[in-house]
Amino acid sequence: MSEVRLRFPPSPTGYLHIGGARTAIFNWLYARKHGGKLILRIEDTDAERSTKESIEGILEGLEWLGIDWDEGPYFQSEFAGEHVEVASRLLEEGRAYRCFCTKEELEQRRKAALEAKRDIKYDGTCRDLTPQQVQKRLDAGMPYVIRFKVHREEGGRVGYDDRVIGRIEKGVEEIEDFVIVRSNGRPLYLLCNVVDDIRDRITHVIRGQDHLTNTIRQVLLYEALGSPVPVFAHMPLTLDQKKRKISKRTHGEVVAVQFYKEHGFLPWALVNFLVLLGWHTSDDREIFSRDELIEAFSLEGISKANSVFNYNPGDQKFITDPKALSINAHYLRSMPIEELAPYVEEQLRSEGIWDQEYGKGRREWFFETVDLIRSRFHTLRDFVTAGRAYFDDRFEFDPKALKKNILKHPDLAEWLPELGEKMVGLDRWDLETTEEVVRAFAEELDVKAGIIINGIRTAVTGQLKGPGLFDCLVAIGRQRVVQRLKRVPELYSGQ
Ligand code: GLU
Repeated sequence: MSEVRLRFPPSPTGYLHIGGARTAIFNWLYARKHGGKLILRIEDTDAERSTKESIEGILEGLEWLGIDWDEGPYFQSEFAGEHVEVASRLLEEGRAYRCFCTKEELEQRRKAALEAKRDIKYDGTCRDLTPQQVQKRLDAGMPYVIRFKVHREEGGRVGYDDRVIGRIEKGVEEIEDFVIVRSNGRPLYLLCNVVDDIRDRITHVIRGQDHLTNTIRQVLLYEALGSPVPVFAHMPLTLDQKKRKISKRTHGEVVAVQFYKEHGFLPWALVNFLVLLGWHTSDDREIFSRDELIEAFSLEGISKANSVFNYNPGDQKFITDPKALSINAHYLRSMPIEELAPYVEEQLRSEGIWDQEYGKGRREWFFETVDLIRSRFHTLRDFVTAGRAYFDDRFEFDPKALKKNILKHPDLAEWLPELGEKMVGLDRWDLETTEEVVRAFAEELDVKAGIIINGIRTAVTGQLKGPGLFDCLVAIGRQRVVQRLKRVPELYSGQ
């Protein structure tokens, strides 16, 4: 088989939508699996709506996700001349014709057809004009569009085998002579897209089912242009729980790839989540490394049914689909610590709490600490919120923890500073000695060790739960622990 060539052709009119990213991922996976090429083509023919910021955003988003391409970015606008030439060629070869019908005429006929319950397709008024009739209209300066001439003479059907949906066919009599060039001389997207795919020698088109309405007409264009029709695979749409399209207007920032970058997602975790929206393996596996995913990916695994993005706008509990969070959490707690560390470093830097020493003399401490605290985290942001106390003295107290573990036991205001004092005098600072001193202290006071332990946890980390307390104390270090215990009385003031 000759080289497999796929493309991702975004229209740069906004941010990189997670649906767009999913399309890119599917094409990328197929190209990588078959040793083929992925071509990035920016479909910027709509000059009014295309922006430089959008192009930059899309490229950045793809790079962040790790979706690499082999050719491009090409810009559709650079091939405008070729699009016009192809339209002229179709005209010369009698595969297209000029249509001089005005908007008003078309509208009138459409209305009349609707009323009479007749077919509302273009009625072919200009389809068989003689060259002289055409010339007369041109001489009179009448504006025209160019329509593709669907070959109805022989009858028959047009179709293709969609790799997801199956055979799709239409009788030629059902297909309108569609417009390929507007009256301002600008070719339509439908044509440009095919001309570009032919030039880029695209063999496989994986795209959303929202493009399905174009495909039969595009198949006709391929045939008229004498080019093989690529393999088409139309992916299901992703809708929300109420079966609505996911959009910024309804769902907010959560539909943009950028959101995930800003909210502490690992790029691969997002790729892993997105690929499951509309694709699955026969054993319904959910976690894939890059190589595993490339190996497992196939068009057969793409489902016909729409996939669901489980996010409710305004949800207080989850910032996005809980499954995306749980996949991110999975990677956070299981990936090699050396791979995770740079992401955590980036978070600490963005908060201004990165210490150069974490990369040098305290590198081992940094790795151990990240490893200790990561198991409960869902996003990288947790390292600078719930996990902040390990790196910085300015951390927040979880109100629930404060209430339950500190405020409920007023005696702690006296006890914990006293315990802090005892800790100053310890010979060593390790798991055994810290545990010993805490337990002995509780016994001495004759209170449940749990009250003291929970109190210390909240005083020292601000949290209700976390890793084993003595591990926490060792990681945070004696000086900070003592300091925080001594400041416990302050926690009662103003409450
Ligand atoms: N530019 C189109 C879009 O962003 C791509 C169409 C296609 O994949 O053929 O939806």
